[in-house]
Amino acid sequence: MQTELTIPTQSRLADEVLREVGQNVNLCYQCSKCAAGCPVSYAMDYTPVQLIHAIRLGLEDLVINSKTVWLCAACETCTARCPQGVDIAKVMDAVKIIALRQGRKPAIPRVASFYRAALGNIKTWGRMFELGMIADLKLKTRDFLKDAGLGMKMLRKGKLKMFPSIRGARMARRIFRRVKDVERNRA
Ligand code: SF4
Ligand code: SF4
Repeated sequence: MQTELTIPTQSRLADEVLREVGQNVNLCYQCSKCAAGCPVSYAMDYTPVQLIHAIRLGLEDLVINSKTVWLCAACETCTARCPQGVDIAKVMDAVKIIALRQGRKPAIPRVASFYRAALGNIKTWGRMFELGMIADLKLKTRDFLKDAGLGMKMLRKGKLKMFPSIRGARMARRIFRRVKDVERNRA
């Protein structure tokens, strides 16, 4: 189980992860269960267990420039399997947050663009309006033709709504404002 947040660590990056998401990577004893269960590890440059180890060693550039955190699908299989209660999915989030805060270029820019487009969309409409999100993503990536055929097929079958619903938009904006306040107070 995850224990108190005050366990001293050697690595500055591990400390930052601890501060950001409350996960102590030094609890890891390298059993590799996280990597064994990860459905995306085949495509990662470092498996989850390797990434956790690199954070413990303070290999900041390697961790922050790795594709692993951007490929993580946040499925939480690793988190559910870790015998030490390390929430590895949260650690992946922490590394992304730290990378963006430091102004580093995401190792897979398309994924970062997707996050930005999805979050902006939810902030505006209160829930996902897929067509708007796709349009924003295309503008951000300038990749206008990718999956265009699939998109047309989904439109024809009515899987993509033409207009957004604005139910919940005000509440979403309040949540985003609140998060901004929390972040400002923590800075
Ligand atoms: S499952 Fe947990 S303890 Fe095992 S290697 Fe992964 S992070 Fe470390
Ligand atoms: S949360 Fe990420 S790292 Fe963990 S198993 Fe899923 S894809 Fe892999």
